[in-house]
Amino acid sequence: MHKAKDAKLVIIGSGPAGYTAAIYAARANLNPILFEGFFTGPAGGQLMTTTEVENYPGFPEGITGPQLMDNFRKQALRFGTTIYSEDVTRVEFSSHPYHVIGKNTQVMADSVIIATGATANRLDIPGAGEGEFWQKGVTACAVCDGAMPIFRNKPLFVIGGGDSAVEEATYLTKFGSIVYLVHRRDKLRASKIMQDRALNHPKIKIFWDSVITLVDGDSVVRSVTIKNLKTHAESTHDAGGVFFAVGHTPNSGFLQGQVELHDNGYIKVFPGTCKTSLDLVYAAGDVQDHVYRQAVSAAGSGCMAAIEAERELSSRGFSL
Ligand code: NAP
Repeated sequence: MHKAKDAKLVIIGSGPAGYTAAIYAARANLNPILFEGFFTGPAGGQLMTTTEVENYPGFPEGITGPQLMDNFRKQALRFGTTIYSEDVTRVEFSSHPYHVIGKNTQVMADSVIIATGATANRLDIPGAGEGEFWQKGVTACAVCDGAMPIFRNKPLFVIGGGDSAVEEATYLTKFGSIVYLVHRRDKLRASKIMQDRALNHPKIKIFWDSVITLVDGDSVVRSVTIKNLKTHAESTHDAGGVFFAVGHTPNSGFLQGQVELHDNGYIKVFPGTCKTSLDLVYAAGDVQDHVYRQAVSAAGSGCMAAIEAERELSSRGFSL
């Protein structure tokens, strides 16, 4: 373990929220330390596993997710952010200054911004796990993996009925021979415009009231078994891929309840702010937002968190 360091501000997380908080905090002379993670997922967050980002303002021609995050990172570094490429394993918020414990580095921090994002959910279906067909045709990110040769001209199955499921199904029509949405209810959760897109797309068909009960194959996925929850009828279908689009879980477990969470694990913030239940601890991005979940809204909340930290530290007389 390295010697403990002191910081006015520690930022945990390296998606749009974390890097934006770092840019604002560094420019406000807070000399932030940012833990960008290592084993917990790619530094840069969920955009690292997307291809083209077309809705981030300022890039009229679009930009790839990894390029966008590389730009964020460079901008954070340019103004003097210190970045540690390690995971935060634990925080100790019971006394101030707060203790942030990384794999190799410990920091005593006057303030903390939590921007650890969320992770795509997976379902526990026989055949879909690690050592079975996970990453051999089963994935939780159509946009990351959909263009792989194994999915070309094959029937593809997307599980879920929300906006992500419809978006992923629509995206996959570029590669698959046909795309099936498998949804556990008889009504999509997705927004009206997305529903229309799915219902009217000639290459998207929907299995209503249905779940996948088995994924099978040889070296890659070859078939799925689908069960209708109303009739209990089961049927097996040729398949080249299975894509989970069943929501996300916020990466808040490492907080071990030291900050107030909603029942679904998202961090509670005071409305219109990034302030958590703890003084001088802020939350930004998807770890506190299950509604918008956009790169630009995450970046916006990162900016808010940094401004709130700077103002609160200076009004409390911390030397900045
Ligand atoms: P979501 O809205 O929470 O939808 C998750 C879907 O997965 C639901 O249809 C849910 O079924 C299903 N599901 C959950 N657990 C399941 C299980 N154990 N077995 C089978 N199905 C299960 O998540 P999301 O689609 O990722 O969207 C999250 C947020 O991001 C939303 O606010 C969405 O509007 C936004 N978003 C927007 C866009 C866009 O506008 N372009 C794109 C993506 C996401 P039930 O419906 O039965 O609960």
